[in-house]
Amino acid sequence: MARYPFLPQGAAFVKLVLEKNGITVEDLIEAHWLEEVRSRGRIRLLESVMHKEGVDSSTTIDLSSDLGKMTESLSFLYAMLVVCASFNERLLARWVEGEASRADQLFGMDEKNFDILARSYLSDIKEVRERGDSDSIYWIPISDFIELCPRISGYYWRLINRPTRDGWVCMNPGSGETSRQRTARLIKERIREDMTNSCLTRMNKMDDSFAELFIDPVERVTKLLSEQVKEEMPMTAAIRDDWPPCFESAVEELSQGVNVNHTGRVFLASMSLAMGLSQEQTCGFFSNAPDYNAGTTSYQINQIFEREYTPHGCAALKTSARCPVSPGDDRLCDQEWLTHPLKYLKAKQRRRFQEGGGTVITEKNE
Ligand code: SF4
Repeated sequence: MARYPFLPQGAAFVKLVLEKNGITVEDLIEAHWLEEVRSRGRIRLLESVMHKEGVDSSTTIDLSSDLGKMTESLSFLYAMLVVCASFNERLLARWVEGEASRADQLFGMDEKNFDILARSYLSDIKEVRERGDSDSIYWIPISDFIELCPRISGYYWRLINRPTRDGWVCMNPGSGETSRQRTARLIKERIREDMTNSCLTRMNKMDDSFAELFIDPVERVTKLLSEQVKEEMPMTAAIRDDWPPCFESAVEELSQGVNVNHTGRVFLASMSLAMGLSQEQTCGFFSNAPDYNAGTTSYQINQIFEREYTPHGCAALKTSARCPVSPGDDRLCDQEWLTHPLKYLKAKQRRRFQEGGGTVITEKNE
């Protein structure tokens, strides 16, 4: 419970820890002896803000001691109170994403407790281990799968691509992940939903005088968040209207099952990386390709993301027949300085923000 204080059962556990140690919420905010708890809570929060892909799953806290258990569980409570006291839904989304990604990693590794963890979020689960298999294969009810899978992109997550039997869906290994890790990925979506709902309820109930007690940590973390968003903004704020025609046409052709050449595919993946899209979203672009294979696509995209390929410039795209515009088709593409699709994207974004349509749309809520 200290490792997973966000579980639905976590609230009762955290309450017990508070009672057992005679700690009030005011103590949590200012008692000198609880500085370690606040510091760990701040780290959890900062990691979520700084790393879009989620916080580090490891912890330096010794969870075998009572003190460690108390620090870990109360640090979660402290971080949550700071988030709620900020009344900032963007910070909330960022923190929830960090905690849910961390849970996804930890659940995937926790063979011993996986059954009970999964049952906390799914209506049921079945574990099947064939003789000679080193790993179990998990099956989950079709109703859970149908509800959660639309939120995840990629071939694996479409029901038609999953083996089913008598109302159960087989979560077999895929994209380099074991069956347990794939199931944990699905559960992450429920954790995200659960945490968001409970924090929004808490936010709505929180009065201003209580929220003021958190003014310092709230100011610090919201400042950091706005700096981080600004840093990521030029690329992650890309909405579809900003896409250069070469990127748009590659996405469209693949979605219609048209075969896109090698240069087009590498460009699509490297451009997605530069725009801040996730690997899963990028894999999703390829799911209708005529020669689509989930494992190969995910491996190749992973290579491009890991090696941080730079997208091709206009000259190379024109040579490889991946520039769909002719003179006069697109005013931006006609400009002499427009030598790279990223310049197109930046010019579009700059214009949109100057015109006041400056809603920052990140790849998560796009
Ligand atoms: S001119 Fe450059 S940015 Fe415009 S569509 Fe062609 S390759 Fe893309």
